[in-house]
Amino acid sequence: MAGGELMRVVIDQELCIGGGICEMLEPEMFELDNDVVISSVVGDGLLPRERAEEVADRCPGRAIALVQEEI
Ligand code: SF4
Repeated sequence: MAGGELMRVVIDQELCIGGGICEMLEPEMFELDNDVVISSVVGDGLLPRERAEEVADRCPGRAIALVQEEI
């Protein structure tokens, strides 16, 4: 695939402080539960490395971790 390797994003729900920036950036990948105000990953969680790093960097709770995909 053009754009290089894929990373899997995972959310540490203990660290998530809500706000939904991840959902705003990647609406098909993250879903903020408005009852508990915690986000989760929906789907496979795979993003190109650069995009995954950008989303993780913009998470105010530092709750998004990246896992290298072995393909
Ligand atoms: S950007 Fe980070 S803190 Fe905000 S909802 Fe997403 S995972 Fe939680």
